[in-house]
Amino acid sequence: MTEKTTNNISLDMPVQFLKGVGPARAEVFDKLGVKTAADLLEYYPREWFFAPPPVKIEQLKPDHTVTLAGIVESTDWQAWRKPPYFEAYINDDTGICRIIWFHGRFLQDKITPGVKLVVWGKASLYKHQLQLTNPKFVIVEEDEIIADSFSGPVYPATVNLSSGQLRKIISDSLDKIIELVPEFFDVDFLKKSNLISRQKAFKWIHNPGDETQIAEAKRRLKYDELFLMQTALALRRYKVRNFAKAVSLKCTEQIDSRIRKRFPFLLTEDQDKVIEEISADLVKTIPMNRLLQGDVGSGKTVVALYAGLVAIANKQQVAIMAPTEILAAQHFTSIERYLRNSDVKRVLITGGLGGDKRKEIIDNIKSGDTDIAVGTVALLQEDIQFANLALVIIDEQHKFGVHQRAGLRKDTTPHCLVMTATPIPRTLAMTAFGDLDISVIKHSPPGRGQVITRYIQPKDLPKAYEFIRERLKAKKQAYFVYPRIVDSENGDVKAAIAEYENLSKNIFPEFKVGLLHGQMSGTDKQEIMDAFRKGKIHCLVSTVLIEVGIDIPNATIMVIEEADRFGLAQLHQLRGRIARSSSKSYCLLVAQTENETAKSRLEIMERSNDGFEIAEHDLKLRGPGELLSSRQHGLPDLKIANIIDDSDLLAMARKDAFELVEKDPMLTSAQHKNIRTELVRKFSGSLMLVDVA
Ligand code: ADP
Ligand code: MG
Repeated sequence: MTEKTTNNISLDMPVQFLKGVGPARAEVFDKLGVKTAADLLEYYPREWFFAPPPVKIEQLKPDHTVTLAGIVESTDWQAWRKPPYFEAYINDDTGICRIIWFHGRFLQDKITPGVKLVVWGKASLYKHQLQLTNPKFVIVEEDEIIADSFSGPVYPATVNLSSGQLRKIISDSLDKIIELVPEFFDVDFLKKSNLISRQKAFKWIHNPGDETQIAEAKRRLKYDELFLMQTALALRRYKVRNFAKAVSLKCTEQIDSRIRKRFPFLLTEDQDKVIEEISADLVKTIPMNRLLQGDVGSGKTVVALYAGLVAIANKQQVAIMAPTEILAAQHFTSIERYLRNSDVKRVLITGGLGGDKRKEIIDNIKSGDTDIAVGTVALLQEDIQFANLALVIIDEQHKFGVHQRAGLRKDTTPHCLVMTATPIPRTLAMTAFGDLDISVIKHSPPGRGQVITRYIQPKDLPKAYEFIRERLKAKKQAYFVYPRIVDSENGDVKAAIAEYENLSKNIFPEFKVGLLHGQMSGTDKQEIMDAFRKGKIHCLVSTVLIEVGIDIPNATIMVIEEADRFGLAQLHQLRGRIARSSSKSYCLLVAQTENETAKSRLEIMERSNDGFEIAEHDLKLRGPGELLSSRQHGLPDLKIANIIDDSDLLAMARKDAFELVEKDPMLTSAQHKNIRTELVRKFSGSLMLVDVA
């Protein structure tokens, strides 16, 4: 049956009906995200092999780049070496050759005794033996004949589908599928942009003649991927701007000066600049969609409150939402500070409210009596209705995507301001938040103390404890942060509960030590936080819970254990907790690691206090996944482009995409039909693009 249908294929045809697939393999493909023939085209090779024909091990000569093919006899992970390496011995009936891959721990599960391996690299002498160091390799099927040469694509394989099987399936159907691939652009555009045709790109990525063809194919396919993503974002932005209506919120001079009087300080230059940007948005009837970035303590909340008071001056309501109840409560407290003796009606909604009290609050919001409602993101989901909500402020700290940028009101859409303390590198901002406008507060208000960061080994802890003891005696407070609450099974990671015992009983018996973690009830957490705030607790042992926005200026010491287990952005965020007073603060990063990347990451923390610089490093070292997952930003994962390495292409694709949507906002012209079809195929459902379909 599969044979019959292959003559009549379409891009949307399930892979099952392609030659060599069938129902069982179709299930494997499904797990790889390959459902249709078109998806199979986008199942790109991991690398390409242009190896000369294999030579026999007995013919090996030093300094020659060769291909060897043999069976793996034995392997070993030499963890204690410097640098550590993975070694394999392969046998081809003429001899045995040692092959090593530095830091190749991940190869342990792949290269196992009995596996047939083709390696390609330079032979060198080591202790009078010839060996290959860090060669390219492919694992081949037992029955796969290694012809007189080995070259071609190497596909990311899975347990049930080897690279060789994938190569066969794809090459069998490649030409037929490629014939169906439509072009997006005219010849002039391709020429001007230095791009090859789409069909050629697919051909060359799966079946290249040489490295140049791979490079050209990659360039086109990466461009397309980025272009489609940017077009989707441009459409989403267009839709919001042209179909959603917001209430115009005017900020007169009188309103401005009245608001400023509420703050016991002058706003910084950065705050003023951002307020100007926000005010310019608010006055329009296009809903604002703005992301406000700035380090912890840089003064975002003040800016947000300014915007809120503009809305209230226009007789509208404001919702302020935070990811947790602790944070919501904290926002409420700081707002209270600024709004004391004002007639702004504000309310904090918590989960612990009793039925009657809750009903009263909800009624007041519904009648329009309440001006500002502060709560968690649950505010959006629950039965709460606003009479005239015109501004939504969302504090996401570093967990993005909590918010729904959907309308909350039937007739109008509220303006939306999203605050985040994680500096988002420009490249990431262009993708994940490509439809948002961005404001940045770069410099924090003056008078902030310096944070001194040191990376230390666990063996230095006793010295550190003595240092901390002195600070505690001087009435300062300290945080101790651990990656886990309880011990892991093999007990190799320090955990909060055990260390709480240790610190309170053995290390600082003369001080009060408190424990805070995510499994405690809301009221217990609140109690501990209050005690710490009042100085009744001197040391607070915690998990990353404190990351989200605790503001206690007297806490000037932070010890983060197992620091190499945290992301840099996360460490920076944590450290932000102790940058709140005018005196010097100390952040000790404790880690025991031999991993060079991990060490250099911690050294960046010692060196830099610039959140953007740190975020760029984190993005380079760990990829965007750490900062946000596709699930959170609602965009499909990129298959071939990489927003860091391909930032030039990204900028180009972004410009082209936004120009396209400007010219033909619904992509209705015949010329753009293929782009439109592809967008629907790729994004339908995920990007609110329904009316483009
Ligand atoms: P963020 O929300 O970015 O963490 P906040 O708005 O909460 O920052 O401000 C942090 C602290 O700095 C608060 O105690 C606030 O009162 C103070 N602050 C904000 N803006 C200024 C300013 N312009 N001058 C002096 N202090 C300020
Ligand atoms: Mg804040």
